[in-house]
Amino acid sequence: MSQDLYNTLGVSRDADGDAIKKAYRRLARQLHPDVNPDPSTQERFKDVTRAYEVLSDPEKRRMYDLGGDPFSGAGGGFAGAGAGFSFTDIMDAFFGGAGAGGGAAGGGRGPRPRMRRGQDALIRLDVDLAGAAFGATRELKVDTAVLCAVCSGSGAAPGSSPVTCETCGGRGETVHAQRSFLGEIRTMRPCAACRGFGSIIPEPCRECSGDGRVRSRRTLTVKIPAGVDTGTRVQLTGQGEVGAGGGPAGDLYVEIHVDEHPTFLRNGADLHCVVTLPMTAAALGTTVHLPLLEADVADEDSAVETVVELDILAGSQSGAELVLGGRGVPMLRGTGRGDIVVQVVVETPTRLDERQEDLLRELAALRQEESPDGQVRGDTPKSVFNRLRDAFGPR
Ligand SMILES: [Zn+2]
Ligand SMILES: [Zn+2]
Repeated sequence: MSQDLYNTLGVSRDADGDAIKKAYRRLARQLHPDVNPDPSTQERFKDVTRAYEVLSDPEKRRMYDLGGDPFSGAGGGFAGAGAGFSFTDIMDAFFGGAGAGGGAAGGGRGPRPRMRRGQDALIRLDVDLAGAAFGATRELKVDTAVLCAVCSGSGAAPGSSPVTCETCGGRGETVHAQRSFLGEIRTMRPCAACRGFGSIIPEPCRECSGDGRVRSRRTLTVKIPAGVDTGTRVQLTGQGEVGAGGGPAGDLYVEIHVDEHPTFLRNGADLHCVVTLPMTAAALGTTVHLPLLEADVADEDSAVETVVELDILAGSQSGAELVLGGRGVPMLRGTGRGDIVVQVVVETPTRLDERQEDLLRELAALRQEESPDGQVRGDTPKSVFNRLRDAFGPR
């Protein structure tokens, strides 16, 4: 390590990654063998590339700064680096492009294939809560590119076939030499005659205009697994868009959207609902018939339980919660089900007639809830707070 790497690149010792990158790019434009084949220039280009390799890597740079030899470690196959890169490769590394002409992937290495993988497609599917919970099968209309049946994806009219491009001799790219202030720059560009394919379809298929695929609306059957929720995506492999040139199809993703349910509000695997009771029923206790989510899907003579009897204890308070364990939504992955959480809401009677009013006054008097001067014997604010906490607060 005789040279000072910072000097070689022409940057200061505190240069940041961006400055180092810029310096190397500037030097590569002058020194690359494609631009300047002079042997001494090539030697310099190797040194510059070496310096860049070290200084652009924070770990190697730290070692170098500490006086170590960053080339002594793993690798070893470093000598001559840079000579193996084409000018376009280096420019691509900085600009992220695919060469000046664009199109050919990977900076132009032989003809690009006509056949490419198709794109994935996404479609939304509305499902009712029971279907999402227990799984369902739905028909889905999709509109995607499918393989052209006339040419089977080749793009050539039946009886004809692609011929080698005469312009590029089948290589798919042509060499462009350009004079500039940097000297002569040679670049590979996708062949304009065959658009980089290396072959030409003299007689394109009429059905697909040579694309190898046509748009089609078809009906698919989707199996929705039990336990899906809004936002879950069901993947249908190979049901997306067929690729250009009849390439393999992408995947179709069906994004589930679960409809609202009249009774249950879903929270993960749990189902929440509210049962409203008259004041008297809450006081005396009662039994409520609660239809389960199964009621939405079970047919009449199936053995599946669709209703449960909920015992409401005498003296149940508004806001009290009853939990029916394992009656909620099945887990999408794994086993078991969530719970049904029932919240009791006690209704205060309204529109009382004279007799009902008398009865309630009598009840209040019996329970000594009202003093003779009409003052209600209520809770103190503190005990009311305690009761609220018991009903709604954290457990
Ligand atoms: Zn066709
Ligand atoms: Zn060509």
